[in-house]
Amino acid sequence: MKDRKELTGEQIVVKVGDLKIGGNNPPVIIAGPCAVESRQQVMETALALKEISIDILRGGVFKPRTSPYSFQGLGLEGLKYLKEAGEKIKVPVITELMDEKNLEAVVEYSDIIQIGSRNMYNYSLLKEIGRIDKPVLLKRGMSASIKEWIMAAEYIAAYGNKNIILCERGIRTFEVYTRNTLDLAAVPIMKGETGLPVIVDPSHGTGRRELILPMSKAALACGANGLMIEVHIDPQKALSDGQQSITPEQYKKIFLEVKKSYFKL
Ligand code: PEP
Ligand code: MN
Repeated sequence: MKDRKELTGEQIVVKVGDLKIGGNNPPVIIAGPCAVESRQQVMETALALKEISIDILRGGVFKPRTSPYSFQGLGLEGLKYLKEAGEKIKVPVITELMDEKNLEAVVEYSDIIQIGSRNMYNYSLLKEIGRIDKPVLLKRGMSASIKEWIMAAEYIAAYGNKNIILCERGIRTFEVYTRNTLDLAAVPIMKGETGLPVIVDPSHGTGRRELILPMSKAALACGANGLMIEVHIDPQKALSDGQQSITPEQYKKIFLEVKKSYFKL
């Protein structure tokens, strides 16, 4: 591709504190609630995950909801709770940035900036993220072709930031049995084309908690550099994405199963 100057396929390892993502480093797990709902909820979840194993704690505080009447996230207050929980269990944290006006706060409180599926095409936001020196997780747009996804990453790199982790989170197809169609072929393609680490989100990728284990195994088998899994202490009461969230106990089963083959102890 002539229009690609920065991401040439040469391997890039992204450092988040002491953690190295990509290259020959072992896969990482990002886990946590879809949304930070309260100080107690994120802290309890973090402590339960720490008991099992976790590399990075996730939690949305600015939530891109389909309905304006659904829970929109706790905003800055939630960001502080997320950071506090991450500090308590001594892991980096990640949260989604939806709007440039919150960039400074998210840079201050979060170790990785997540650009969600809905904003993959937000080129002005991508340029802003490119200008800062902070790891970014770029999710695939829900109707983005591989080429478009590559070019979104190239936008960030072109403006100066190559600390990019890609995340396959499923695309929209005619299939409605699952929330999205998880495109695992994109994993080796994106790794090869860009050289960037690619992780897989089987939670949004399927929308069904019973599919998280098989899709996690499949993702790691095809070379994913990590997983992102939604975990809630009480999925029935979750304010968002309860149907795809798993309990810490279910997470433990998945972790034990995948670590047998893929995670170094
Ligand atoms: C999320 O991970 O919180 C999220 C909203 O996912 P996506 O952008 O993939 O829909
Ligand atoms: Mn979610």
